Amino acid sequence: MAIEVRRFPIGLTNSYLIKGQGLILVDAGSRRNPDVVEEKLRALSVNPKDIALIVLTHGHWDHIACLSDLKKMTGGKVAVNHREKEWVEKALKPLPRVLTPWGALAKILSRLVATATRFSGTPVDFSLQDDGVSLEAFGISGKVVHTPGHTQGSMTVLLDTGDAFVGDLAMNGFPLGFGPGMPCIAEDPNTVKTSWRLLLERGAKKIYPAHGKPFPADVLEKKL
Ligand SMILES: [Zn+2]
Repeated sequence: MAIEVRRFPIGLTNSYLIKGQGLILVDAGSRRNPDVVEEKLRALSVNPKDIALIVLTHGHWDHIACLSDLKKMTGGKVAVNHREKEWVEKALKPLPRVLTPWGALAKILSRLVATATRFSGTPVDFSLQDDGVSLEAFGISGKVVHTPGHTQGSMTVLLDTGDAFVGDLAMNGFPLGFGPGMPCIAEDPNTVKTSWRLLLERGAKKIYPAHGKPFPADVLEKKL
């Protein structure tokens, strides 16, 4: 069955809807605006209750602010790497270190917006291990794989089609940098590149970042 992908930003961060035999959502935005999300889903002829799983690429605040609303709206289970379960359940807001001048600015802005964005913790249903997990049970041909670097617990949804939903393992475009590539903030840039390599080896063809537009995976290959 063909896979359909839809990108829709919730606040500052892209969420992606992936439709195969089942429906899953990747990431849950930086703002609490569930009504707008519901409208967008309805416009795509999606009944929110058909979304069975919400995969978090990682537990940063701008990926989980709308999570409790989305979980209520969809009834979907929540999955995140075990290292970041507590961030999600306690609504913690850690930020990684800065890599670029843009990163310094992004971190200051992020901290300001994070402080102003209030949301509660959300129970995690699946605490993902580093050996990853198949999405077949949710009607999607693909896997969630461990791709650390931006955070130690960062995960990528990698479909059999080569579509890779990487969260903040790569970012694309102003004001976070110029064009696709290294995230402006990350725990370890070398580990970011190791994870890029892993994704390329495993067949990633198109990168869907949480910030900015999708781009071809060979852009990352050239930056290794
Ligand atoms: Zn992040």
